Amino acid sequence: MEQEKETIVSLEDVYKVYPLGKTEVHAVKGVSFDIVKGDFISIAGPSGSGKSTILNMIGCIDTPTQGTVKINGKATSGLKDNEITLLRHQTLGFIFQSFNLIPVLNIYENIEFPLLLDKSFKQTKAERKEWIDYLIATVGLDDWKTHRPNELSGGQRQRVAIARALVTKPLIVLADEPTANLDSVNGEAIIDLMKKMNKDVGTTFIFSTHDQTIVDIADHVIILKDGKIVSDERNKSGSIR
Ligand code: ADP
Repeated sequence: MEQEKETIVSLEDVYKVYPLGKTEVHAVKGVSFDIVKGDFISIAGPSGSGKSTILNMIGCIDTPTQGTVKINGKATSGLKDNEITLLRHQTLGFIFQSFNLIPVLNIYENIEFPLLLDKSFKQTKAERKEWIDYLIATVGLDDWKTHRPNELSGGQRQRVAIARALVTKPLIVLADEPTANLDSVNGEAIIDLMKKMNKDVGTTFIFSTHDQTIVDIADHVIILKDGKIVSDERNKSGSIR
C-alpha cells in the first residue's frame, strides 16, 4: 500500500478575474486540487485555458480574486510581504518560458544569483561553488560557465534556467511551458533532467504544458478547459491529444 503522502499545495475553489477595458476576463473559474510532495505534475490544456494564471497564483506572482491557495498548509493570502519573499526565495523555484537570465552575468553567476539574494543560505563560498559546479555539470554546461547567455542556444539557456531554479533546493519548482521554445531533442533532454532531479532530490515539479511527452511521464495530470478542470488524475496520465 502506498504511504500517505504530504499535501504541499492546495487550491480551494479558486477564481481569477482580470479586468479588461470595460469588460472582464474570467481566467480561472472555481478550481480545486491538491498536490502531493515529490510528484511530477502536469497542468495541461489548450492555450488560454488558465494554466499560467494558476502557476502564477501558486508562485505568489498573482493573487486569486476568490478562493484559497495554500502552500504547506498556509493560505498565501494571509502571508505578510516578507513571508511571501521568503517563500519565493526558499520554497519555490521558477522556470519561465522566456528564461529571464541576466544578460550581463555569465552562466555561473546567473545560477549563483538567487543564493546571493538571500542571506539565510549559510554556505561557505567553497560549498556554494561545489553545488553550483555540480548543477552546471548535471545540466551539461561545463564548457559554458564563463559565457554570457546571448552566446548560448535556446536549449542551453533553458538548462541554465533549470539549474538556477534548483540552486536554492526549493521544495517546489514551477515551470511555465518549459519545452515550448525547444526542438524535440532538446525538449526531451530537459524533461529527462527534471525527472532526474525529481527522483534524486525529491523536488515537486509543477508544469504547464501542451507537450504530450510531459503529460505521459507525469505522476499527476490536471487538464483544464476554459478555466475549469475537466480531468484530475494521479498515477495515470491522460491524453491531451
Ligand atoms: P494559458 O496559460 O492556459 O494559455 P492563461 O492563464 O495565460 O492561459 O490565460 C487565461 C485567460 O486569461 C486568457 O483568456 C488570457 O487572455 C487571460 N489573461 C491572462 N493574463 C491576463 C492579464 N494579465 N490581463 C487580462 N487577461 C489575462
